[in-house]
Amino acid sequence: MADNYVRFWGVRGSYPTPFSTHLRYGGNTTCLEIRAGNHLAIIDGGSGIIPLGDLLMRQQDITEFLLLFTHYHWDHISGMPFFVPAFVPRFSIRITGPGNSPEEVKHILGQQMKAPYFPVETETWLANVQYMDTRIDCLEHGPIKLQRFVVHHPGTTYGYRITVNDKHVVFVPDQELLFIDQPINQRLVDAELGADEKRLLEQMKEEEKWSLLKPMMDAHALIHDAQYTPEDYASKRGWGHSCYVDTVNCAIDAGARSLYLFHHDPSYPDHKLDTLHRHAREIISARGADVACHLAEEGLIIDFDTL
Ligand SMILES: [Zn+2]
Ligand SMILES: [Zn+2]
Repeated sequence: MADNYVRFWGVRGSYPTPFSTHLRYGGNTTCLEIRAGNHLAIIDGGSGIIPLGDLLMRQQDITEFLLLFTHYHWDHISGMPFFVPAFVPRFSIRITGPGNSPEEVKHILGQQMKAPYFPVETETWLANVQYMDTRIDCLEHGPIKLQRFVVHHPGTTYGYRITVNDKHVVFVPDQELLFIDQPINQRLVDAELGADEKRLLEQMKEEEKWSLLKPMMDAHALIHDAQYTPEDYASKRGWGHSCYVDTVNCAIDAGARSLYLFHHDPSYPDHKLDTLHRHAREIISARGADVACHLAEEGLIIDFDTL
């Protein structure tokens, strides 16, 4: 087992899929483990955090860790009521995520653990839980550095640039890359539009593209939302998720060395993901790019030391 790594505990978008047709890539929703020796940071508490919690209960080396949230959609918090370390006094957990204050983060996480939705409230957590200052963009936990940035997804949502030993893994579980393109394209076909305005709109598109790419530039590994096929994306524009074709092009443009397609649509069985993966690699070779393209899969490890 590697010393410094990222491990996928949940790769599915929207809701868990415990179906036999989906289990090769995994049915749990978003949860990422980041380890550097005995330092641990967890991003998101989807259903994947439940087995990670069980693993933490079976070991003695780690008693304190960071828990960061990209945002609070159900698929990113639904494992929290069943995350056993939170109920155990030997653990110290520092939590942060989008919010105007630590109290707001505490309130948001507490909402799903209240009657009549759940019988046990966060007040019964016995771990030493601290809510961190939500204004801090850059965190360090031992050798793990985490830089957050805002992405295109409903509500405030963060991506994280994770650095260990000068290797960068960028994690953007939920983001619609072409968020702004459609409204601009609609205006561009307007016959009334003057040449200056057209130029301005094209410039906006270009600026938007580079501001999206900036936090992902030169990632050794980019883990990014690739939920939809082009056919499904056509009817789901504005929902906050990307078509895998856009994700692949973004990885190439950002100079990523490897790409992990993430937030798999719950309606896509394993064989459909295989097809999507094959197309993604064809796009990369057609563009003559050198990006190793993978499908995120439960249990898969990205070793910082071999990136
Ligand atoms: Zn999600
Ligand atoms: Zn979301």
